[in-house]
Amino acid sequence: MLGPDIGPQIAMDPTGTSFIEDSVFLLNFGAIIGYIEPYLSTPIELNVKRPQHFFGATSLEKNSIAETHDNYLVDDYYALIDGPIMYCRPDTVSTVVDGQVYHIATYSGSDTNRARLLAEYIHPICREAEEYVSKVLDSDYWFIFYHFDASSEMYAALEHTRSSVFCLSNNTRSYEERLLEISAHELLHVLTPKHLQCRDTKNFNFKNAVPNQHLWLYEGVIQYLALKLCLEAETLPPEYVLNRFAKAYVSAKYRYGDRQSLAEFSRTIYDSVSAYHFTYAYEKGTVCAFGLDILLTELSGGQTDLLGLLHTLIDNYAPTGVFEDSNLFSDIVSLTFPEIETFIIENILEENPDVIDEYLAKIGLYRHRMKTYSRGYTFGLYGKYRYSARDNLLYVDSIPSRFFGYTDFAIEKIEGAALNYETVNRKLLDPEDDTPVVLDIIVEGKPIQITASPRKFEYEIKKQVLDKVSSPSEKQKALFEKVMGVSYDDYVVTVPD
Ligand SMILES: [Zn+2]
Repeated sequence: MLGPDIGPQIAMDPTGTSFIEDSVFLLNFGAIIGYIEPYLSTPIELNVKRPQHFFGATSLEKNSIAETHDNYLVDDYYALIDGPIMYCRPDTVSTVVDGQVYHIATYSGSDTNRARLLAEYIHPICREAEEYVSKVLDSDYWFIFYHFDASSEMYAALEHTRSSVFCLSNNTRSYEERLLEISAHELLHVLTPKHLQCRDTKNFNFKNAVPNQHLWLYEGVIQYLALKLCLEAETLPPEYVLNRFAKAYVSAKYRYGDRQSLAEFSRTIYDSVSAYHFTYAYEKGTVCAFGLDILLTELSGGQTDLLGLLHTLIDNYAPTGVFEDSNLFSDIVSLTFPEIETFIIENILEENPDVIDEYLAKIGLYRHRMKTYSRGYTFGLYGKYRYSARDNLLYVDSIPSRFFGYTDFAIEKIEGAALNYETVNRKLLDPEDDTPVVLDIIVEGKPIQITASPRKFEYEIKKQVLDKVSSPSEKQKALFEKVMGVSYDDYVVTVPD
């Protein structure tokens, strides 16, 4: 994905490449050598000629290193795309936790000392992650951070077996919190899908992608565990983490209401509508994982939990970690408790988002909307638009004409570019200020270009929080402490920003 405002050399996507002479070469081999079916199992020799002062940050083992050459021998295509390399002037810091080495490599343009700062942020996560990942990590792990300057706030990351690539705009809001969350998230992917995956995920067919029903596991469970890991590492406070769970619930419900089961969403992820709403897997998946963690902790009397289940599954499918799409649910039930079958039906296979309340009650919480006041900018679109994936238009109905000059129309382009998830959200649905936006719209079948500015407003809103019940029992408090790792009495309910 390339942004029109920042030039063609910048990678904004962690699967992308970036070639900037004398600065950086981000090599993601899926974008370089192509997917050539007869040669997927062929061993590959890679020779890289580089400037003397450049260093290649990668989990791929260097077979030989000369002054201006690196040589790699790689088992096959999949091993190569699993090992991206970032060449640039070295800005790398290593941190060791109980013998496990983590490298933090960065490219940040003019800032050549970013790695030390990032290592300080990430070290507590690596320290606390031992219990999570030591079972599967068998060599050094690389965090590869590629920063770029852009007017927009953007960040994305992609996991590999022994590394992750992060593409981060230097303008990312709440940089540290985002960094912690995504670092923990990508690292924990070594659990799943890297060591626990559906048959079709392993050796993925890039020509004919086959979906499965387990995005709840790959993204929901991992996002939930990442937040929990940040909490355990004391890098994010409990109120922040519980507010993120509440926000995940609201976002998932807003996106699909009561109409979408997680398993069905996963099976249709390559359809345009599901792809547009891909964050649903993270949002509802997080809520689902939270409920499952509570239930497993309760049923086992604190002997196991969601992380324990992942470890059990990895052992169960050893040595490959591969499971059959249709067997995973029944395997989970047979490896845990009969009650888990009902949980899976109600929270993953069927379509009822409010079942989570039953599990929240077990740890003395309930969903509650708290009042807060806020200021912001708006185009007044809330509840007045409908996105059509088929023609990539945003249909707007019955909006006051003061915003755009028209009341009914369809938006075709923003700042000259076709609609995409990021610009629709950032420019139209959640504008940061009153900067005018150029829009190509269709009014009564005719294309028109207009310039519109968001308006300032002040409003009272109710935000969902996970509040404490009025008279919690000792059992509820104890289970809360087991699941969250912090005392129930110390949890202070706050309204999210
Ligand atoms: Zn992920």
